[in-house]
Amino acid sequence: MTDAELLAAADAIAARAYAPYSKFHVGCAVLCRDGRVVEGVNVENAAYPLGVCAERTAFSRAMAEGHRPGDFVLAAITASPCGGCRQWLAEMGVERVVFRNGGRVVTMTPSELLPESFDSSDMA
Ligand SMILES: [Zn+2]
Repeated sequence: MTDAELLAAADAIAARAYAPYSKFHVGCAVLCRDGRVVEGVNVENAAYPLGVCAERTAFSRAMAEGHRPGDFVLAAITASPCGGCRQWLAEMGVERVVFRNGGRVVTMTPSELLPESFDSSDMA
């Protein structure tokens, strides 16, 4: 699966976002090492801070399906990941991230998205 194909999957799943407040639909598609694709969408809540980003729903779903950090090759997102999701992308150990930003398609690694990130080694 190409980066463009995975981004197209993210675009398609974005239609299922639950975003009645912002109307900003985001989709995320994650390619796993076993070839499976796990998708997520943003899910908002009337109590605004409780909303969850598409990246987090995709990775939470992947974890529930048995995947673990390091099982992920590529994450495709229809928008630039927020700061919190950059931390999630680092935690999940995804190799690359492709996303739309201002009409461009950008590909970066988690460490480029979040340099000097906090990780489990900082807790030792
Ligand atoms: Zn986010």
